[in-house]
Amino acid sequence: MINLYGQEIKKLEELLISRGQKKYRATQLYDWIYSKEAKTFDEMSDISKSFREELNRDFVLALPKIFTKQESKDGTIKLLLELEDGNKIETAMLPYNYGNAICVTSQVGCNMACSFCASGLLKKIRNLKVEEMVGQVLVMNSLLKEKDKRITHVVIMGTGEPFDNYDNVLDFVRIINHPKGLAIGARHITISTCGLIEGILRYANEGLQTNLAISLHAPNDELRNKLMPVNKAYPLKKLFDAIKYYESHANRRVTFEYILLKGVNDNLECAKQLADLIDNASTYIVNLIPYNPVNENSYQRSDDKSVHAFFSYLKKRHINVTIRKEFGNDIDAACGQLRAKQYYEENNKR
Ligand code: SAH
Repeated sequence: MINLYGQEIKKLEELLISRGQKKYRATQLYDWIYSKEAKTFDEMSDISKSFREELNRDFVLALPKIFTKQESKDGTIKLLLELEDGNKIETAMLPYNYGNAICVTSQVGCNMACSFCASGLLKKIRNLKVEEMVGQVLVMNSLLKEKDKRITHVVIMGTGEPFDNYDNVLDFVRIINHPKGLAIGARHITISTCGLIEGILRYANEGLQTNLAISLHAPNDELRNKLMPVNKAYPLKKLFDAIKYYESHANRRVTFEYILLKGVNDNLECAKQLADLIDNASTYIVNLIPYNPVNENSYQRSDDKSVHAFFSYLKKRHINVTIRKEFGNDIDAACGQLRAKQYYEENNKR
């Protein structure tokens, strides 16, 4: 069975042509499932009976199931979704004042093993399929519809490394960005990577106007090696060469994410090294992230004084710096926490 939610439009056109259908059927199907929000093939009234029979026989419109739902006082919604094979993934909706952002998961588990991150507690089991990423947005949209809202921004910053699932993530991006798909503007879509060079170089040539965020978290190789094992394969020099290539080819600027960890990377010497590292590029944006503590490690969030000293130093160096707004403090908000908790409960490991 082919899940229609997993079909990028060009691929769907080719598939339909190979089945003896006309190319325009792809747009017609997109219109039904994304604009008219049809849930069955039978309601697609302008599609011939014989083609509807074929659709019913060989295609499905299947979505992940909501396993648990947490809603914060501030409106944040966090879901644990159950996939067809029983695996569970997290997805979260963050209600910013400029729109509703969804944080999409790209893999079941993650192999990047960043030492501060709860997602990596459970190793990668498999890549998500395209329809499982589209499904996260559709399920969240169906909940928001009750409040007359919809997803306006997508960040691929949930569990997993998107560039370790490159092809599926790019198909997902094309589907949500397509005017006949979910029509989410390219500038409202961000892929976040821990720094897989091959992915950055490929992404530079996709001809998309989407955004790229780099999880930096340390301003020198010694510290970054400790926090993020991926740095041993792709040290900062290589990473920055790839970023420069991306900027010149995609013509887009990148955002650096920098989690502030108490006593680890939050001193002024780190701020100075960070400013030196990105000095020639006043076009970069640095997003300072307050750390969400995770039970399984001993990292702590920086105190307000250190955060502000770090922030002020970067400002003084004319760097575009922001501090990430926090959501859902009263629910299991840290990346991977909800899924890890469920996993431990099921397996009695805690
Ligand atoms: N693998 C990709 C995307 C998933 S992680 C990446 O590395 O960018 C998304 C972001 O959340 C990354 O910047 C990651 O470092 C950050 N993150 C992970 N655990 C966190 C925690 N406990 N508190 C705050 N941010 C965290």
